[in-house]
Order: sequence, then structure tokens, then C-alpha cells
Amino acid sequence: MIQADVDLQPYNTLAIAARAAHFAQVENLDQLREALEFARRKKLPILPLGGGSNIVLTGNFPGLVIHLDNPGLEVREQGERTLVTAGAGENWHQLVMATVDRGLGGLENLALIPGRIGAAPIQNIGAYGVELRDSFSSLEALHIATGEMHSFSASDCEFGYRDSVFKGRARDQYIITSVSLELHGEWHPRVDYPALQQYFREQQIDSSGLTPRAVAEAVIAVRNSKLPDPAQIPNAGSFFKNPIIDGDLYRELKKAHPDLVAYEVGERWKLAAGWLIDRAGWRGKRQGAVGVHERQALVLVNPGHGAGAEVTGLAQEIAADIHAKYGVELEPEPRFYP
Ligand code: FAD
Ligand code: NAP
Repeated sequence: MIQADVDLQPYNTLAIAARAAHFAQVENLDQLREALEFARRKKLPILPLGGGSNIVLTGNFPGLVIHLDNPGLEVREQGERTLVTAGAGENWHQLVMATVDRGLGGLENLALIPGRIGAAPIQNIGAYGVELRDSFSSLEALHIATGEMHSFSASDCEFGYRDSVFKGRARDQYIITSVSLELHGEWHPRVDYPALQQYFREQQIDSSGLTPRAVAEAVIAVRNSKLPDPAQIPNAGSFFKNPIIDGDLYRELKKAHPDLVAYEVGERWKLAAGWLIDRAGWRGKRQGAVGVHERQALVLVNPGHGAGAEVTGLAQEIAADIHAKYGVELEPEPRFYP
């Protein structure tokens, strides 16, 4: 089950060529335990891997990559609510479309996000004003140190904006094996993002009678028009999180740049990092094998299949430039390995 010296290029959407010293494809809990026992005996670091759409490989991984491939999709109706439980290895977008096919609302704004279900809680995936936590019920995870299974409620997960306990206190301690979501009969479309509004206007769709399928179709069309498909142009989605800044800096920036794109979050302001990068002149720039996507400056691309160092080098240059021009710190969203 465990292979040595495996090429990770097909397993990361940035298509970075790097190797794993050891690689295990696990399809059930017994295989996962076996893989963990192998890593424990050899004292290897572990990298749990789903679709590889939110990682940057900066070199060869010296430990054990555990590719979560455990299937399973169960849909249970309980009165007004429907509980959907899926194995970590299931594809996220297919799960969204399976719920839309059943006429269930709640996940449609999250259509076409790449990756697998096991990774969705790690950064509380979100798009178009909806986050995983809005439908999250619970998850099961294996505690690496003890081998025990733990159940996490929504509050245990400490979800935040593209954040969870698994990026903080519990980082590297658990392998998520399944996730349960709760969808309700009562449904209201969430379509206030300008790109969705524009789509409905252009298609002459009356947004008062929307169905989950119509919203999913809008999200898919808008994403396809703007975001690069990793199969065609390797990328890891948004390379930086949208920075949340305090009111003083916001007012200063707004005065200097009246068309600044920002959204109020409590007493603070979320800036569109893509707007900053675009205005700083980076959109569409190519630097060796890597570059900045021409239709969305927040997405770094790797069309020339460059090494991780090329991607991180470009990211550092952009972050330094944004800091110099706007006084704003950009924090990368994907996780870097090793
Ligand atoms: P991976 O990249 O394989 O892993 C990501 C992290 O989670 C790693 O640290 C990994 O070790 C850990 N991990 C993975 N599986 C497990 C597990 N079972 N147990 C424990 N840890 C695990 N994200 C959004 O939030 N919203 C978007 O709209 C969005 N759009 C994107 C568009 C594109 C074109 C791309 C390429 C990416 C986009 N992303 C988006 C980022 C990414 O798709 C999500 O973060 C997704 O959830 C990552 O899933 P994955 O299976 O590929 O995770
Ligand atoms: P967009 O619609 O052009 O919007 C630009 C930015 O403005 C987004 O980052 C978004 O923040 C924010 N925004 C827009 N309307 C808003 C509103 N009504 N209220 C609050 N914030 C608003 O963005 P895009 O790049 O095309 O992406 C569309 C959606 O998909 C976004 O939600 C984005 O986060 C998500 N996405 C994520 C990734 C990733 O890898 N993480 C990749 C592609 C797309 P938010 O980002 O907070 O929503």
C-alpha cells in the first residue's frame, strides 16, 4: 500500500514537480491506521492530502503523504432537515451537485470549488457570501497521536474567515475522515455578490424566483468566465487572503484611492486583495514559468510548471510591493510544504 519516492506533480493543482519520500493511498480507516503506524515506526512527518488545490510544494516532502481516497455519500431526511454525510475522499463539487440534483439548497454558492470534502473544514471554504460553516453539522477525525476517533461540532471547529481550529491549535494533529452537513427545507438564495447580480441581469433571469440549481449554474458560469481551470492553467486559487484592516487605515486608503474595493466587517474592513494587486500593476504579468492570472490578479498561475521556489518568489515580490504601496500585509492562503 505504501509506495516510495512518488512524483507529486499529478497531486497538486499548481503542477509543481516535487517528490514524496513515501506515499499511501488510503480508502478506509484500517488503511489509514496502517499508514500512520508506518509513519510512527519510521518517525516520518505526515502530509494528509486531498485534491492538492490549496498547497504549495516548496521542495520534496521527506515524510509520508497520505492521500485520502475514502468514498461514501449518505443522505438522510429527518423531517424538515436533510443530513448529508460524506467520506473525506469524495469530491466537493460532486457533493454540491448531488444536493442540488435533489432540490436541496444551501451549498449552491460553493459549486466548482476544487478539492475533497476532508479539506473543506480546514479553511472553512467560502464563496459568494456562503461558507461551509453555514451548513456544517459535525465531522469525524482521527487523532494522529493516540489513534482515537474524535467527533467535532461546529463550535469545536472554531470556524472563522477561511480559518478553523485545524489551522490553529489543532494544526497537524488530526486527519478528517468524514464530514456531515445539515440542509434545511426553508431556503433563501444568497445572490448579493455583484458578479452574480450581473449574470442574472445579462441572462434576463428574474432573481425573485430562483432555485438552488439556477444559483449553482450562475456560480459555475461566473467562475468559468473568470478563474483558470487548474487542468489547463495550473493554480491554487486565491493565493492571498483578503486582508481585514482597521478603520483608520481604511479611511486613509479610501481617501487616496476613492475606487478602493472594501467591505465592512464589524468595525473593520475587508479589502479585495485582487484589486490591490491589479492596481499595483501585477495582473497578467509573467515571470519565468509563473505569473499572475490575466482575469483575476489574486490567482498566481504556473503555466510553465515551475518549481515551488518560483511561485513563492513571485508571491513574496507581490506582497512586498503591496506593503510598500498600501501599507497592507498580504498573507498567503495555501499551505506550504515541507
Ligand atoms: P488539499 O490542497 O489537498 O489540502 C489543503 C490542506 O488541508 C493541507 O494542509 C492538507 O494537509 C489539509 N488536508 C486535506 N485533507 C485533509 C484531511 N482529510 N484531514 C486533515 N487535513 C487535510 N477555496 C475556497 O475557500 N473558496 C473558493 O472559492 C476556492 N476556489 C478555488 C478555485 C481554484 C481554481 C482553486 C485551485 C482553489 C480554490 N480554493 C477555494 C482553494 C481550495 O480548493 C480549497 O481550500 C479546498 O478545500 C482544498 O481542498 P483539497 O482537497 O484540494 O485540499
Ligand atoms: P469577486 O466576486 O470579484 O469579489 C472580489 C472580492 O470582494 C472578493 O474577494 C469578495 O470577498 C469581496 N466581495 C464581493 N462582493 C461582496 C459582498 N457583497 N460582501 C462581501 N464581500 C464581497 O471575487 P472572485 O475572485 O471572482 O471570487 C468569487 C468568490 O469565490 C469569492 O467569494 C471568493 O472568495 C471565492 N473564491 C475563492 C478562491 C480561493 O482560493 N479561496 C478562489 C476563487 C474564488 P470574499 O473573498 O470574502 O468572498
